[in-house]
Amino acid sequence: MREIRTAELLSIGSELTVGETRDTNAGELAAALTEAGVEVIRITALPDDLPIVQAAFEAALGRADLVVSTGGLGPTPDDLTRESIAAAIGETPAVDPGLEARLRGRFDARGLAFSTSNLKQAWLIESATSIPNDNGTAPGWWVDRPDERLIVALPGPPRELRPMWAGWVLPRLRARGFGQRTASVTLRTVGLGESQMAERLGARLDRGANPTIATYARADAVDVRISAFPADGQDAEAMVAAAESEVMGIIGEYVWGRGAVSWADAIEAALATRNWRLATVEIGTRGSVAALLGEGVGDRLISASILTTGTRNLDGDGPLADAAATDAAAQGDAPRADAAEGELAALARATAERTGADIVMVVRARRRGDDLSVSIAITSPDGEHAERRVTFLAGALGRSRAALVAAAVLQARVR
Ligand code: AMP
Ligand code: MG
Repeated sequence: MREIRTAELLSIGSELTVGETRDTNAGELAAALTEAGVEVIRITALPDDLPIVQAAFEAALGRADLVVSTGGLGPTPDDLTRESIAAAIGETPAVDPGLEARLRGRFDARGLAFSTSNLKQAWLIESATSIPNDNGTAPGWWVDRPDERLIVALPGPPRELRPMWAGWVLPRLRARGFGQRTASVTLRTVGLGESQMAERLGARLDRGANPTIATYARADAVDVRISAFPADGQDAEAMVAAAESEVMGIIGEYVWGRGAVSWADAIEAALATRNWRLATVEIGTRGSVAALLGEGVGDRLISASILTTGTRNLDGDGPLADAAATDAAAQGDAPRADAAEGELAALARATAERTGADIVMVVRARRRGDDLSVSIAITSPDGEHAERRVTFLAGALGRSRAALVAAAVLQARVR
C-alpha cells in the first residue's frame, strides 16, 4: 500500500480569502499531521470558486499522498467542495439514500422543514465514504484514489471537524498506516537573540541534519525545536535525547521551559517545588507582569499590584519610608517613578508583610532613550536580590519584554 508521507491542506471558503475568518483549521491539522510524522508540504487558502478549488485538488493530488480540505461542505450554493472534488477526479455526485434518510431524520426530529438544497449534504461519489458529523448536518468525505492517494474533506466549523478528525479520520489513518515514527522536543529560551543562538549552535542547525534543530523567534521565547526522523532500526526518542543534551550543554543556561509551557506554567512549577506563594508589584509596566503570570500561576499568585506613577508621589520629594510604601501599595499609588533601588527593596519587604507572600517581586520600568530600564527587587526566604536590565524598545513591546525579563529573573531566584 502507498505510504502516506506527505500531505497538503486546503482551507476552502471565501470568508478566509477576504480576511473575515482566520484559518485556524489548517494550523491544527498541520500540527496533528506533523506529530504523526507526515510532512505537510503546502497549506493553501481558497475562495468558494469551483474552477479554483478543482484545480487546487488536482494539483495537490499530483504532489501529496494525502489531501485534507476543510470548509465548503455547507448546503448553500456557494459551498462547492463536493462539486470540486467530483470534477477533479472525474466522478459524478449522487444522493446517497442512507445519508438522505439520516439527514431528513435530523430535520424531522427538530420539527424543521427540509429544503431540497440540503440534499447536497447527502451526496456521495463512487469512491467516497461518508464521514459522520455528530455536530452538524454536513458529513465529510474520505476518498480513495486508484493510486492509493487519499482525500479527506471536512466541514469548516472547528467544533464539527475536530471530533471528526480525532474520532474518525485519525484512527483510520493509523489503521491504514501513515507517517513515520518521529520524536521532537522544544526548548524555550530567553536571553539570547535568534542570531546569537544560531552562532552558538553552528552547523547543528544545518538543513538536512537528523535530528534537525531549528530556532523560532516567538513573542515569549526563542524556541529551539529538535526533531528526529529515524531510519530503520533507529530510535527517535534516543536521537532526540542525545541532541537535546548536546544543545543543553551549549545553551542550557538560557532554557526556561521544555515543551508547550508558558511563562505562567514555568513560574507556577518553580513556585510549587518550593511551596512558595508569590506577590508582585509593578510600576510603569501597565500590568504586563500580571498579564504574563496572572493566568496560569493560579493560586500561587496571591497579590498582583499594578501601580501608576500617580501625581501625588511624582510631586513628592524624599524617599518613601517602608510604612509609606506599604500604604502606597495598598492604595494603588507608586513610589516616585525615579525611586532609588533601595526603595523598591523596601516596597518588596513591605508587600511581603502586607500580603503574607513568601516571595515578592517588585518590577519598575522606566524609559531610557528608546528603551526601558527595568529594575527588579525580589525578597524571599533566600534573601534579597536586586537586578537591573534594559529591554530593547519602549512602549507596549518594551513593557511586555520587561515582563519577560522579570519572569526570567524571578524563575532564576526561585530555582
Ligand atoms: P463550511 O460551511 O463547511 O464552509 O464552514 C463554514 C464555517 O466554518 C465558517 O463560517 C467559519 O466559521 C468556519 N471555518 C471555515 N473554514 C475555517 C478555517 N479554515 N479555520 C477556522 N474556521 C473556519
Ligand atoms: Mg463555506
